[in-house]
Amino acid sequence: MGKKGQAPPPATIPAQAADPDAPPPPEPVPPVSVLYCAVCTYPPEYCEFGASLTKCKDWLKEEHPTLFDKYYSEEALQTKLGTLSLEAQQKLEKDVAKKEVKAEAKADAALKKKMASQITIKRIERNKRKHITSVFGLEAFGIDLKKAAKQFASKFATGASVTKNAQGLEEIVVSGDVSDEILEMIEGEVGVLKGIPTDNVELVEEKKKKGGD
Ligand SMILES: [Zn+2]
Repeated sequence: MGKKGQAPPPATIPAQAADPDAPPPPEPVPPVSVLYCAVCTYPPEYCEFGASLTKCKDWLKEEHPTLFDKYYSEEALQTKLGTLSLEAQQKLEKDVAKKEVKAEAKADAALKKKMASQITIKRIERNKRKHITSVFGLEAFGIDLKKAAKQFASKFATGASVTKNAQGLEEIVVSGDVSDEILEMIEGEVGVLKGIPTDNVELVEEKKKKGGD
């Protein structure tokens, strides 16, 4: 402990350079400014713990090429992997791959859900000569129900409107028995009826209950 007023000791003695056998000092790590990955929201150095490393890397390379080099250059990877056992390296790679597969599966699930959505074209008998046709489920394929109803109305020169069914869900109701024609329009991707897999379309018939007349 120095006394007040005493001159500080000369700062000319380097701590380690004097000993050639001493390990090199750790490289100074510059403080990371507040930067978060736009893909996974972790700071970029933690992207590997997220589920989207491949996308994260693309983003970083695009937005912050210097950081990208810092974390993912051959040299950086070698340094990092060098500290891990071969087993640990393989596990790390496997984990990253697994997480990415999971994330992709999640994105796929949303698409699959849409593709699994069923469209029902129902022919409904009102009385012996009169039918109506209801079309349910088009909105799952991004189709504007009002536009579709308008299209049916002009195509069949009949009434068509969007109404709520008994379950409170919207469907299109068209006057007349036009179920086969509507199926054909979906198959032919006519007008707004684009992108619906025909396998998802079901034709059903609702007969009037006996004795109802
Ligand atoms: Zn990220």
